[in-house]
Amino acid sequence: MNMTDKNPNAPLILIVDDDLPSRLLMRASLEKIGFRIAEAENGLIALKEFENIVPDAVLLDVMMPKLDGFDTCRAIRKLKGGENAPILMVTGLDDIEAIHKAFDSGATDFITKPINWAVLNYRVKYMLRASEAFYDVIDKQKQIRELAFFDHLTGLANRTLFKDTLEIAIAEAAKEESMLGILFMDLDRFKTINDTLGHHIGDYLLKHVADRVSSCIRDSDAFSRLNKRKAKHYISRLGGDEFTVMLPRLKNAEFAGRVAQRINQILAEPFNLDGTEIFISASIGISVFPLDGTEVEELMKHADLAMYHAKESGKNNFQFYKKTLNIKARQRLDFENDVRKAVQGEEFELYYQPQVNLKDGSIIGAEALTRWQHQQRGTIPPSEFIPAIEELGLIIPFTDWVIRTSCKQQLDWKELKLPPKRIAINISSKHFVQQNIPEKITRTLAEFNLSPDFLELELTESVLAQQNDETLDILRQIKEMNMSISIDDFGTGYSSMVYLKTFPIDIVKIDRFFIKDILTSSQDASIVKAIIAMAHSMEMQVIAEGIEEREQLVLLQEMGCDYGQGFLFSPAVSSQDFPSMIERNISLI
Ligand code: C2E
Ligand code: MG
Ligand code: MG
Repeated sequence: MNMTDKNPNAPLILIVDDDLPSRLLMRASLEKIGFRIAEAENGLIALKEFENIVPDAVLLDVMMPKLDGFDTCRAIRKLKGGENAPILMVTGLDDIEAIHKAFDSGATDFITKPINWAVLNYRVKYMLRASEAFYDVIDKQKQIRELAFFDHLTGLANRTLFKDTLEIAIAEAAKEESMLGILFMDLDRFKTINDTLGHHIGDYLLKHVADRVSSCIRDSDAFSRLNKRKAKHYISRLGGDEFTVMLPRLKNAEFAGRVAQRINQILAEPFNLDGTEIFISASIGISVFPLDGTEVEELMKHADLAMYHAKESGKNNFQFYKKTLNIKARQRLDFENDVRKAVQGEEFELYYQPQVNLKDGSIIGAEALTRWQHQQRGTIPPSEFIPAIEELGLIIPFTDWVIRTSCKQQLDWKELKLPPKRIAINISSKHFVQQNIPEKITRTLAEFNLSPDFLELELTESVLAQQNDETLDILRQIKEMNMSISIDDFGTGYSSMVYLKTFPIDIVKIDRFFIKDILTSSQDASIVKAIIAMAHSMEMQVIAEGIEEREQLVLLQEMGCDYGQGFLFSPAVSSQDFPSMIERNISLI
């Protein structure tokens, strides 16, 4: 007779005993009162079985070979669902020491052998009942906690939990010496909406505002490293239409302004209520630890004051507590908006710096370097705008533009009947991990009817440092397309020769930093020499960057360096000026 098939909801008991007759007897006894049974003949099997079936209770023999009952019990406690599972240990009669040990190793209760079957049945039933009550208490505790710490309308943290969490976050920030931002947000004209449209519409809006703010915050960088459950504590409704957000580990203070701006933006989209659109906005105040205070109350008060300032400045905006930060944040946001517009409007220009063969001075190609003519600020160097492009997530459209423009340039030069020259393009490591570059380039080349051997991709060592199969795969595809790959700024980053060996690299570009002091520092000179020798031994070629003086050139020639780039030959020039340099066809050395 097997009850198992009859009642799939009956409690499931795992019997662990190395003695088969014992197991059979226990099974028979427990099945008679309706339990379902699983068996394990030793401790190790028991652990596996426990993980598979997660039984409602365990009956565990103490005396077993290998893993005995005590160790098995301890191990079950560490398993998922095993923490609080009822475990009944079966010990020898009068073995007081075993009973002590059983409790020490985490047993719920014990029963002695020889087993009194009627007692066994009641023990198991009692244990299950107690454990049910236990879980009930845990559930209730959870409910009470929710009521005490979370806002019932929005599900966000309430004032108490927010302040507690903030206190901990401040302590962490102090220890890590990082910054932490606090946003204090108040909806504009919410009272009017509530009074005219009614409370249930007001509640609806608060709920949806909470959702929008949460999703916006959760997607932000500051939260990418926090776990979801914890992140929930970082946003609160203090009451009414007031919300607060904390932003741990701020990269810089202005970043808090960027988050505030995003909140303003997402709230600007209308809320749809049965076909009627409702518009809402918020005023946001920002304080930053440790600049504006080091205590919870102080920081909250300052964020609140800044929020009033935002209201006074015409609502629907944000303000920092410190005026200086307002100016900096505005500048940064203005700059970011300009960068965004520049990428969309393709406001950049490619300049070309010739790469020279150090044996005969001929131009072998050019590196494409981007220039940005800003309307107010004049020429802005790439060191300033490339990081902004990367941070704004615009590196892919930007690099697409660089690739297209380089291809177009090749066509223009072809029309001018110039001998073809290879163009080297800088590829950001941020771009490399995200995109299928080979396919994209193949498409662009086909569009312009160009051969791939006139493109070279400059990667930095950080791309190789990721050292995964995907990187290797992409590089191989590029190689198969017949495009050259060079490693830019070699020597500054990870400088591992291993990378060069693992990946299909054609050219190593020695960083300007080493060339700068090559005449005065014997150490730099020997590093350059070693890089050249090493690259040649692996059948790679070498370009020296930043050659400014003739003596540097002479030394590099002696060292057997293949190519060079630098102000000694020419800085990067516009696409109009580059052809004449080739046409003159004179040696640049
Ligand atoms: P890079 O790839 O190492 O480019 C060489 C930099 O050294 C260029 O600066 C170039 O103007 C400068 N340079 C060349 N010869 C000399 C010299 O003799 N002396 C000195 N002092 N400098 C020299 P630039 O144009 O300001 O570019 C800086 C960096 O910005 C580049 O370093 C590259 O990493 C990045 N970059 C430029 N354009 C792009 C682009 O289109 N895409 C990406 N992802 N990065 C770019
Ligand atoms: Mg470069
Ligand atoms: Mg370089």
